[in-house]
Amino acid sequence: MALRKILTSENPALYKKSREVTDFNDRIHTLLDDLKDTLSTQSGVGLAAPQVGILRRAVVVLETNVAEGEQEYMIELVNPVIVECEGEQTGAEGCLSVPGQFGIVTRPMKVKVRAQDRNGEFFEVTGEGLTARCFCHEIDHLEGILFTDLASEMLSEEDLYDDSETNEEE
Ligand code: ZN
Repeated sequence: MALRKILTSENPALYKKSREVTDFNDRIHTLLDDLKDTLSTQSGVGLAAPQVGILRRAVVVLETNVAEGEQEYMIELVNPVIVECEGEQTGAEGCLSVPGQFGIVTRPMKVKVRAQDRNGEFFEVTGEGLTARCFCHEIDHLEGILFTDLASEMLSEEDLYDDSETNEEE
């Protein structure tokens, strides 16, 4: 298990565009494993390679919409592209790179992503609710965009708990 340090919003790497992954080699496998290990120690639901200082188009997302009694699991997305969006949700969003801050962001309710797996095979995956929000948020990281650029209003942790009806997953 290898944990990587998560960069915070003053780091310029977070505002750069990540490069496409072209070699599906051990380095990318190690990066994906480390992203999963690192995310598993955090309270977040997604982590993108640039958040650990690697400007490559790779992210992991925790799928939390699972049937009762089933385990949540992480989805690895390499070179992900949003191919379809449906509906809209407006709610609070946070980021492991912007600790203690939240913002109101409008995202699609349902998102279909086309990506490659760790061996370069293409696949499509659909996320709804929090997972759709997370797909958009992580793919934004690959463009150097943080949720703070998109938020209509920023909230502190206190505001978030004061006003629980604006929380995610509405
Ligand atoms: Zn983030």
